Amino acid sequence: MKIKNICCIGAGYVGGPTMAVIAEKCPDINITLVDSNPDKISAWNGDLDNLPVYEPGLKEIVKKVRGKNLFFSNEIDKNINNSEMIFIAVNTPTKTKGEGAGMAADLKYVISCAKQIAKSSRSNKIVVEKSTLPVRTAEKIKDILSTHGRKGINFEILSNPEFLAEGTAISDLYKSDRVLIGGDETKTGKIAVNHLISIYEKWIPKSKILTTNVWSSELAKLASNAMLAQRISSINSLSALCELTGAKTEELSKAIGMDKRIGTHFLKPSPGFGGSCFQKDILNLVYLCKFYGLDEVAEYWHQVVKINNYQRTRIANLVDKTLNRQSNKKIGVLGWAFKKNTNDSRESSSIYISLNLISKGYKLYIYDPKVSDKKITTDIKDNEHLIKSKHNLENKFVVCRSIDECIKNSDLILVLTEWEEFAKIKTKKKIIDTRNIVENEVYFKL
Ligand code: ADP
Repeated sequence: MKIKNICCIGAGYVGGPTMAVIAEKCPDINITLVDSNPDKISAWNGDLDNLPVYEPGLKEIVKKVRGKNLFFSNEIDKNINNSEMIFIAVNTPTKTKGEGAGMAADLKYVISCAKQIAKSSRSNKIVVEKSTLPVRTAEKIKDILSTHGRKGINFEILSNPEFLAEGTAISDLYKSDRVLIGGDETKTGKIAVNHLISIYEKWIPKSKILTTNVWSSELAKLASNAMLAQRISSINSLSALCELTGAKTEELSKAIGMDKRIGTHFLKPSPGFGGSCFQKDILNLVYLCKFYGLDEVAEYWHQVVKINNYQRTRIANLVDKTLNRQSNKKIGVLGWAFKKNTNDSRESSSIYISLNLISKGYKLYIYDPKVSDKKITTDIKDNEHLIKSKHNLENKFVVCRSIDECIKNSDLILVLTEWEEFAKIKTKKKIIDTRNIVENEVYFKL
């Protein structure tokens, strides 16, 4: 079997950039992204300036390969059957109901994909888990494929977790630290692994392609995210101590990071980590540990999420204190994306800090260069239940069109995302800079 056609189910933040880069690097393979959301497919086929995912460099690649060997389609069944390799890149949110609610990953989208693959496949397929999944999900996918699939068809399941960081997805994909491929140690498993290696080998040196068994690969993804998030919570917890003692967090991170054993990455203080993965993956890890009776281990990792929530509350309280609890004051919130260079606001600290401030009675003027008005509004409305007071949302927030509009209307400016355009802001009003990005003198920085 030669891999000539790839189908990727899920055209989101993971599927979109990953498949665009594979298409660019492998011009002899046709790649089709399918998605159950037809609006998303139309947007991928539409204006290059309004693609569903914003990532530096993505638009240029899509321009180059779209319609050549990268396609976006609503025809899921047909594209599954036409492909030798199928990537599953659907979202795996935290469960909201049933056993493990609030912790375990909800696999309903993955399960529905597996059923669809089983139903549509008339020849052998290699199924690649790209979505972050709890350990041993491959086993579940395999069960579904063998129960629902046609007789005589072989499905090989590979785990190939995505380690890209949003905001730098394209450069991460071009120059991955490592590509991890987990597969069965059987003859057919090894063949499937080699097929996937031959795709990545087109641009990743072989020494950076690591093969493991499926379970190690699945767990490595959760553990990597948990360790990265742990560094953020570590420095954020210390930023609270800095505030009280007069130590400077920036100096502290520099001093710590210069130790080669520790290194400089992920030691910047912030309003807390966001994004779709860190919290979800840690909670997932916590759930797994509890499931296996490792309560102490579960508690150890859970603390990383608790410190993240603490940091968000701490910042909202700091703003409140700075304004002397005069809730008739207006606050300018600069930044809604969970970090710069992405339009993704999932789990962004801006959401939680803003709702906390609305709960305290403040009115917000919000600006972000890439997150749409509509998204900011739904993020707030969808989380209205977090408002712990009689204040309702009526007239409590305005989405601004510019930094100037935001500053002009506010009594205090709160910088929550490290967008470079916030570095130059100048105002006599108090600025609380949670990203240490503003170059001018500020009232408070973390
Ligand atoms: P991620 O950050 O993991 O890529 P996204 O939410 O950006 O998450 O993307 C996941 C995509 O998967 C969404 O566009 C969603 O519509 C799509 N999706 C979810 N379930 C299915 C399914 N069963 N079939 C096809 N697409 C699906």
